Amino acid sequence: MFETLTARTTDSILTLMQAFRDDPRDDKIDLGVGIWREPDGTTPVFKAVKAAEQHLWRTQETKAYVGMLGDSAFHTAVAQLLFGQAPQRMAAAATVGGTSAVRQLLALTRVARPDATIWIPRQTWPNHWALAQDLGLSAQPYAWLDRAACVLDRDAVLRDLSGVQAGDVVILHACCHNPTGADPDPDLQAAILNVLQRNGAVPLIDAAYLGFADTPEADAGWIRQAAACLPEVLIAFSGSKSFGLYRERVGLAFVLSDHAGVVQSHLAVLNRMDFTFPPDHGARVVTEILNDADLRRSWTEELGSIRGTLRTSRQRLAQALRAELQSDLFDVLTDQVGMFALLPLDETRVAHLREVHGIYMVGDGRINLAGVTEETCPRIASALAEVMRGRG
Ligand code: PMP
Repeated sequence: MFETLTARTTDSILTLMQAFRDDPRDDKIDLGVGIWREPDGTTPVFKAVKAAEQHLWRTQETKAYVGMLGDSAFHTAVAQLLFGQAPQRMAAAATVGGTSAVRQLLALTRVARPDATIWIPRQTWPNHWALAQDLGLSAQPYAWLDRAACVLDRDAVLRDLSGVQAGDVVILHACCHNPTGADPDPDLQAAILNVLQRNGAVPLIDAAYLGFADTPEADAGWIRQAAACLPEVLIAFSGSKSFGLYRERVGLAFVLSDHAGVVQSHLAVLNRMDFTFPPDHGARVVTEILNDADLRRSWTEELGSIRGTLRTSRQRLAQALRAELQSDLFDVLTDQVGMFALLPLDETRVAHLREVHGIYMVGDGRINLAGVTEETCPRIASALAEVMRGRG
């Protein structure tokens, strides 16, 4: 049966993680993997998560199935976080992390509008393309970053998006989710929503990093605007990064629509076919944290500290590179937000950094700033300067 198959590679990030583990050098530096790490390399459990888990352990009396859409208290708690208050015309389904929320929303698109084009920013996570292709949807890139200058190319973004048609779906990254670290400012956010509104297109907002640029509520600003001005909005929410619940697979697919009831029935069928019941433990932890004032305060404080550390890492790397290169090219790092930045490096230079210096980053030059610590920064800056000088 399987002799016709050839081996497939998963996406490059996972391959890189394995190569890093296999590298015997003691002083190797991981700037690849997309999880938050403290300067000592650990990814601790949030205090609020531990407390909520303790409470659950004491009080939970059953592990019986919940329902195909998950727990409605989870839907409401996250909806309040995202929208300020849960909208009337909302369909919601808990999913297996944010990735599966994206998948269910694209699968729903295929049911409702199989000929829709999915518009995907040119710099994104490889899975957006993979999911659209796997579902047989046609996909089209739109501009995002000016790679040489490392800044958002706003004219190109709006020019490309002016081509969207009624019923098309446009994937937008909520705050800090774009792997470039370059988020749209409020003007560009409004302009993008305007184009979608004018053309009758639907945004699919992929949200996994609330709390990484500003407070979680402030970071939901673009989502709230979209909800206020567009008739139909799709949102994929992940609790992996904002709550540090990566392996618990916490996700939610939201749809705002005047046909929310019918949409919700379709989401239930999609969940039924994929996994029947979504995971519950992490969802319950998130619900407890959002609904308890003390836990919520503790969670936002810890997120605030992560935010502060990332800001310091950005400043530290920009400053070190300015000193090494006598150039302000990397000052953009301090204007950008979240864990990621896309450096103007090609595959050859990325391979050089890995092979010669033991510095691991994704092949297109994406780095996770969480790996730029007081200890690692000088080595990273001098190695980057070395490859940048050889740019020619
Ligand atoms: N969206 C996309 C496209 C992703 O690849 C990921 C994984 N990094 C997420 C959202 C959120 O992560 P998770 O599935 O772990 O919740």
